[in-house]
Amino acid sequence: MSFLWDMAQDERLGEVGAKVAVARSQAQTAAAQVEQLEARLEALQLANAAMWALLRERLGLSDAELIDKMRQIDLLDGKADGKMSPRVLECTACKRTMSTRFRRCVYCGTPIAGGSPFPGV
Ligand SMILES: [Zn+2]
Repeated sequence: MSFLWDMAQDERLGEVGAKVAVARSQAQTAAAQVEQLEARLEALQLANAAMWALLRERLGLSDAELIDKMRQIDLLDGKADGKMSPRVLECTACKRTMSTRFRRCVYCGTPIAGGSPFPGV
């Protein structure tokens, strides 16, 4: 009886070990993705700071004007939440709705005319 119990326990331990290995691999992948996203975010922050410094210096814009424009853009989706939610468009051909991040209708392939150079804005 004890031998059978030991075999069942060994099998369970093997299953748990396999699950731990999968979870460890997923955690490593997620950590690598977070690291890549942080690097991209830092590069974008640097580019934004440089662009804003150029605009301030060359066009004389103020921080208050920037903050006001940020509020206006934030409200385009109807919510003052500090985020830019993707807007939706209606396809002129099939009338289905889709995100503005697409250049063509994802359902029928019709090109989306007059899209924004910045998806979601
Ligand atoms: Zn369509």
